[in-house]
Amino acid sequence: MHKIEKNLIPKEVFDTVGKITNSGYECFIVGGAVRDLLLGRTTRDWDFTTNATPEQILEIFKDGYYNNTFGTVGIALEDSDLEPFEITTYRTESNYSDNRRPDKVSWGSSLEEDVSRRDFTINSMALQIGPDSSTEVIDHHHGLEDLKLKLIRTVGDADTRFKEDALRMMRAVRIATELGFKIEEKTESSIKHNAELINNISKERVKEELWKILAAPNPVDGVEKLISSGICQIILPELLPSFEIDQKSPERHHIDDVGTHLLKSLANCRSHDPLVRFATLIHDIGKPQTHKILSSGVVTFYNHEVVGSRIAAKIAERLKFSKNESTKLFKLVRWHQFTVDENQTDSAIRRFIRNVGVENIEDMLTLRIADRLGGGARETSWRLEEFKKRLIEVQKQPFSVRDLKVTGNDLMEALGIPQGKAVGIILNKLFSKVEAGELANESEELLKKAKELQLEISRN
Ligand code: ATP
Ligand code: MG
Repeated sequence: MHKIEKNLIPKEVFDTVGKITNSGYECFIVGGAVRDLLLGRTTRDWDFTTNATPEQILEIFKDGYYNNTFGTVGIALEDSDLEPFEITTYRTESNYSDNRRPDKVSWGSSLEEDVSRRDFTINSMALQIGPDSSTEVIDHHHGLEDLKLKLIRTVGDADTRFKEDALRMMRAVRIATELGFKIEEKTESSIKHNAELINNISKERVKEELWKILAAPNPVDGVEKLISSGICQIILPELLPSFEIDQKSPERHHIDDVGTHLLKSLANCRSHDPLVRFATLIHDIGKPQTHKILSSGVVTFYNHEVVGSRIAAKIAERLKFSKNESTKLFKLVRWHQFTVDENQTDSAIRRFIRNVGVENIEDMLTLRIADRLGGGARETSWRLEEFKKRLIEVQKQPFSVRDLKVTGNDLMEALGIPQGKAVGIILNKLFSKVEAGELANESEELLKKAKELQLEISRN
């Protein structure tokens, strides 16, 4: 177990290490790539560390580019789907005065110093590549052991490390979720004590980690870890009251509290898009505020989707979602209670499409199915299937007068009438008839009907 599979290492990686070591410097593969290699996972993101200065690295790689802030030289790879290689000179870090990144980055003098500033033991291993392409794992902080135990544990004292950089707490949950690992006990209890420091981290970075948690193979595990570690309380407090709200009620099928239903819905969300997953997670977030128990014992959540969409908008603003993301989140939450009643009119269905946005219909249905499954219902019902068919049918029909297969000019020509009010009146009448399904949207039929309408109008 945990042997390095050499064929997972691309040729470019061997070449890069070779060029640096042949010039007389040390060079190691570090970070997530080593961890992923040992787990037998492929990785696209290769990081290197070296005792050479950025200037010396640039001597070796003439077209490398230097990022001054991090002391990193980037090397773009041609014809490769790998991320640019990042070669960073040994570093130590000092003086974290605001719980986020150090005040200054200082050069370190050894590999050991460099790996000791890294966040978790499983991220602190280095891989040495010999001249004969042999590989050796250098493990100063028992990363291999934690990899075996499937544990996320800070390098050094957890409190100190999280106070240095509070983002590490989100990274702990994110990496644990991605790998299906547990957070080691002391590390987790330190997160519980220090979670509030996450407020010092930029919202963009918090959201980025949240998105990675949601994109993981088991996002529910991630949300549960956010809750148990106390981070949810800081970044998404709106979610927590839902776990206190019971939905058991005469004549209703719900058996779980709202929060558990939300987690079960997320578990059943078939989209991989973090935004759709997030919308699924919070779709009932308006229920705690709208919760009522009638004298009959019946539990109601009247208008919870309206209240929920307002909460969603606030969350999106706080966590700095993009404009598109926040609009879409709002719509998915606002309209998730859409009715699939077979007796609704075409125009009602059309209104639904306009509200949700044609481009979001597929994801709206995905959320609905996740909601059904998360509530213990079957994946679909005949009504939902009929509704899906009508969504397609209705979209084949015109949405506005402009979509009619005849124009005002066509009418003026065919009826021999001048521009004026009558043209508009006839067009609108044609449109209502097409929309009601009484008339086909074909020019011949439309013109025939237009002539009848013209007669009617001139008689009145
Ligand atoms: P992935 O690339 O899969 O997201 P990763 O572990 O490679 O995971 P990166 O953000 O690429 O994460 O960081 C590369 C390495 O840099 C990490 O493995 C870790 O050793 C170190 N590192 C990253 N962020 C921090 C941090 N906030 N504090 C300390 N070390 C960090
Ligand atoms: Mg990485």
